[in-house]
Amino acid sequence: MAAPGTVVGLPEVTLGIIPGAGGTQRLPRIVGIPRAIRMICSGERVPAAAALEAGLVDQIASSDLRATAVAHARQLRGEKRLMRERDVPSTQSAEVGEATTAALKAGKRRPAVLAAIDAITATAHVGFDDGLADERAVFQRLRVSREAFALRHQFFAERDSAKHPSLDGAVPRAVELVAVIGAGTMGSGIAISALDAGYRVLLLEQDAAALERGAARIHAHYAGRVQMGKLNASGAAVLEARLQTSLDWAELASADLVIEAVFEDLGVKQQVFRRIDAVARPGAVLASNTSYLDLDAIAAATSRPQDVIGLHFFSPAHVMKLMEVVRGQASAPDALVTGLALGKRLKKRPVLTGNAFGFIGNRLYAAYRRQCEFMVEEGAWPEQVDAALQAFGFAMGPFAVADLSGLDIAWRMRQAATRDPRARYVHIPDRLCEAGRLGRKTGAGYYRYPEGGKGPQVDEAVHQLIAQARADKGLQPRELGDDEIVRRALLAIVNEAALLLAEGVAERATDVDVVLVNGYGFPRWEGGPVFWAHERGVDALQDDLRWLAGLSGPGFVAGDLRHLLTTEN
Ligand code: NAD
Repeated sequence: MAAPGTVVGLPEVTLGIIPGAGGTQRLPRIVGIPRAIRMICSGERVPAAAALEAGLVDQIASSDLRATAVAHARQLRGEKRLMRERDVPSTQSAEVGEATTAALKAGKRRPAVLAAIDAITATAHVGFDDGLADERAVFQRLRVSREAFALRHQFFAERDSAKHPSLDGAVPRAVELVAVIGAGTMGSGIAISALDAGYRVLLLEQDAAALERGAARIHAHYAGRVQMGKLNASGAAVLEARLQTSLDWAELASADLVIEAVFEDLGVKQQVFRRIDAVARPGAVLASNTSYLDLDAIAAATSRPQDVIGLHFFSPAHVMKLMEVVRGQASAPDALVTGLALGKRLKKRPVLTGNAFGFIGNRLYAAYRRQCEFMVEEGAWPEQVDAALQAFGFAMGPFAVADLSGLDIAWRMRQAATRDPRARYVHIPDRLCEAGRLGRKTGAGYYRYPEGGKGPQVDEAVHQLIAQARADKGLQPRELGDDEIVRRALLAIVNEAALLLAEGVAERATDVDVVLVNGYGFPRWEGGPVFWAHERGVDALQDDLRWLAGLSGPGFVAGDLRHLLTTEN
């Protein structure tokens, strides 16, 4: 029996274990082996109506659940229907093979996924009691596996990330209408995310053509979901009807939360915040989606810096789980918890960060990428670094990521920045940009991208450019093993995390793990860099860090790892 809002599922695999109380033996007897593989291996959440259709529940109680259940039981008149006595529906082996292949691919062959498939497919030839005993044994083994510890760690880190001790007692402000300013890449993604969460959205632009393009992008997104069968047409129409587009700033007056996503330029943003300040209602939360600008300088353009926070979404904004909530000097606690609550309602992982260049995520990632560039300069090829880190579990290697996002933004930022002349500087990315290799969009970056959508191809021209850069510095290339690559990349992240904690930009060590896993493709089943650091232990890490500092050369700032590892959580 299910109440209408019930969600049915067996999410154990997402925690590195398998269902341990008969789930792998009973579910196939109801829905068949292929569907059981799909459900258990993905941790799919099946809504009540679909559960009824699949035979997972007998009835959905439209009113009183208990009374309906009692009435239903009476109707059965003592008849028992034991799942254990049911036969497993016979299935074509091709169908089982298909479900297995898909589950292994999506589950990256994680041990719990493999074990779940074995347990489920065993139902075709192993009796119920033996199947139960086998399931139990596997469950017990996986429960104490490293992977299960790591996934539990990440689970609790994510659960805690939206609750911050420093904001205890603050109550989120009510939000019904979300205004998004700027209908570009980020603005339209943020609008979709808010519409999906049931908010009314006002999309505002300065430019009629840009507004039209943004609205068209949003419409195309919903049309695509309808076409793929992920949403029905009337559902899409309901969501789209909550979107309102406008060029008239006076309409901002009715917004409870304003999210600015205009060009990344302080002057432009300050001017936009002045205009928001002039029309927004008192108490509205005013947020900026800036990636690198100083939130306090933006807030200073308004008469109400206490209402200003950062909401740093990641691209694509309607897909990426991470959302950084930036605390400005004057941000009021209730404005910040409004941001955290919004993140939860958008089904994101909101993390609180201080207002410092790059916040938590981009700063960690910059340290990681810098270390990877060091390794290329010393003798590894970009494709070797990418392959080693992908084998560790990253969704993509750092150089493939750089090509995807484009090398030019960082190039321009480096040109504008003043840098410590003594610090080690790798010229390779600059040389690539100077050669017009700005990444995937120009058909070439660290890799070559031939026409026709073929993926990254290793490019001899890049090897030559790198060899030249090494020779210019008088460096003798040496071979780096995959172990060294992974260890240095992780240590660089851990070291930066220690610095961020010491500076108070990150308040909690576990937030670092949430950021890396949800925003940067760090493998969830490895727990996160702080989890990894805990495993290595403080003494080994101190040695590692001295080693890393020696290899990284001048300009490397070592953090205090004890601080990182003794922080609560
Ligand atoms: P974009 O160029 O795609 O879109 C910006 C939009 O803002 C344009 O449609 C433009 O017409 C509009 N705009 C500019 N000035 C305006 C004004 N004064 N009033 C109203 N609208 C105005 O840019 P984007 O990639 O969506 O980035 C927007 C913001 O999000 C930037 O601050 C950027 O740093 C940040 N951000 C971007 C990414 C990313 O990966 N693209 C990720 C995180 C954060």
